[in-house]
Amino acid sequence: MKSLRPYNTFGFDVSARDIVLMHGIEDYLRCVRDSGPRLILGGGSDVLLSEDFPGTVYVMASRGITVERKTADYAVVRFAAGESWKETVEWCLGCGLSGIENLALIPGTCGAAPVQNIGAYGREFADICEYVEIMHEDGTCERLPPEKCGFSYRMSRFKSDLSGCLITAVGLRLSRSFVPHIGYKALQCLGEKRDLSALDVYDKILELRGDRLPDPARIGNAGCFFQNPVIDREKAAELQRRFPEMPQFEFGSLVKVPAGWLIDKAGLKGFEHERAAVWSKQALVLVNRGGARPQEVLDLAGIVTDRVRERYGIELQPEVRIADSRGFVDPKSPLRRSGTGRGH
Ligand SMILES: Cc1cc2nc3c(=O)[nH]c(=O)nc-3n(C[C@H](O)[C@H](O)[C@H](O)COP(=O)(O)OP(=O)(O)OC[C@H]3O[C@@H](n4cnc5c(N)ncnc54)[C@H](O)[C@@H]3O)c2cc1C
Repeated sequence: MKSLRPYNTFGFDVSARDIVLMHGIEDYLRCVRDSGPRLILGGGSDVLLSEDFPGTVYVMASRGITVERKTADYAVVRFAAGESWKETVEWCLGCGLSGIENLALIPGTCGAAPVQNIGAYGREFADICEYVEIMHEDGTCERLPPEKCGFSYRMSRFKSDLSGCLITAVGLRLSRSFVPHIGYKALQCLGEKRDLSALDVYDKILELRGDRLPDPARIGNAGCFFQNPVIDREKAAELQRRFPEMPQFEFGSLVKVPAGWLIDKAGLKGFEHERAAVWSKQALVLVNRGGARPQEVLDLAGIVTDRVRERYGIELQPEVRIADSRGFVDPKSPLRRSGTGRGH
């Protein structure tokens, strides 16, 4: 068995029968043709690997950037799936290409960005997606336009597909003239700045993220553990009556509620369970305080879910993808608790 510790940002010491780093086409073919148990990983920054895995873990490691089209207004650039997302944002800004700056400093790879349609500060991957390139089991590649990717809030067809189709590259449409997206509350102060640039937005986001999120190199975590729940208007009105200070945001015909607020006001910010904890600066993040087993974080997630359900009647859903010895589990299934022996 080989250790997966370097391949997950929680830093869990679980193992796999084999680990294959995918650098190019031969490795992709091996992955898509593997009929045994297999898992695909990028940077491992959005997964909770709960058990040893009896199959092969394929880690995307391909590199390559190609400018495919350039007009007066925009450029379409292809990024190989193993390119670092953080470096991709910096590369674009360095080339005078914008539209991506709000997504600065998100860990992980370009190939994983469409999977949960990464988002931050009012923007998401779908806003700049030209195509997602995938490889089918027969080795043929297809470029899916965004309307075929099933993007919605922290969701895509790639996330709902538990068999895990292989993403080999993404094509981004980037603007050659900067249009600010600073409607998000924490960015509105930038509206007063003269000659605002994409780099100013980037700098502000660096500052905001550094304040709130733990660095996985020091404290194991996978970013926001839970999704912000989306509820119907009737439920939202009932909660507003009981908790007048609860922030609520329009979300189409529904209402989105910040899960971090729910957890914080339920008294769990900084709460510790064995070697796992709710992060003291952002209650949406669960951390490995050092040496935690995956089950300790799962049990903590269960405690948080119970408390939020009891207090608000809202069922939190994990945003991180949980895998066990059979592969990724359905995000809607209940979290597996110690001693129950049942599915997640
Ligand atoms: C500190 C911190 C901050 C974060 N902030 C944000 C944030 O602001 N917004 C946000 O949306 N996310 C955030 N995240 C979560 C995470 O960084 C993103 O979801 C990221 O896109 C995951 O990339 P990854 O390469 O690490 O994917 P992994 O964790 O390795 O994989 C995630 C999923 O994608 C699949 N996958 C990965 N690569 C491929 C591929 N090539 N083909 C097919 N499937 C693939 C995996 O099977 C898995 O299901 C944060 C995480 C951390 C640790």
